[in-house]
Formats: sequence, C-alpha cells, structure tokens
Amino acid sequence: MKTMSCKQLGGACDKEFQASSFEEIIEMSKQHGMDMFLKQDEDHLESINKIRGLMQKPKEMQKWIDDKRKEFEALPEDE
Ligand SMILES: [Zn+2]
Repeated sequence: MKTMSCKQLGGACDKEFQASSFEEIIEMSKQHGMDMFLKQDEDHLESINKIRGLMQKPKEMQKWIDDKRKEFEALPEDE
C-alpha cells in the first residue's frame, strides 16, 4: 500500500488515501472530490475547477496523470 494526500492528488486538504495501485488511489480521490463537491467545500470546488479545466485539454490532462502516476510509483511502500 502507498499513501498520497488529497493535496498531492490535486485536491485541497490533507486527507490521506491508501491504495496499492494508482488507479485505485485516483478513484478514492475522485470519490472524495465528489463528496466535497456535494458539500460545496470552497477549496475543493476551486481544485475541481482546475481539474475540469485540464480535462478540456487532453494532452495536459494526460501529462498531469502521468506525473501523478510517477509520483505514486516513486513513493515507498507503507510499513
Ligand atoms: Zn480533500
């Protein structure tokens, strides 16, 4: 398992997600983003808007995902 925070995944808080694969951790952070969106949390709304902006530009979105994937892969395994 590896740990990444909401902030590390483009979010706005220090909540940590633990997963054994990058896909899984992205899914957890998406779910959390959705919860925060429903709560209309301002900080998260801002970061969600940034990601939405990225989604309009597939190349930049792909680069963002690749960067995050590298970041995830470079992390040490949790004890
Ligand atoms: Zn968060």
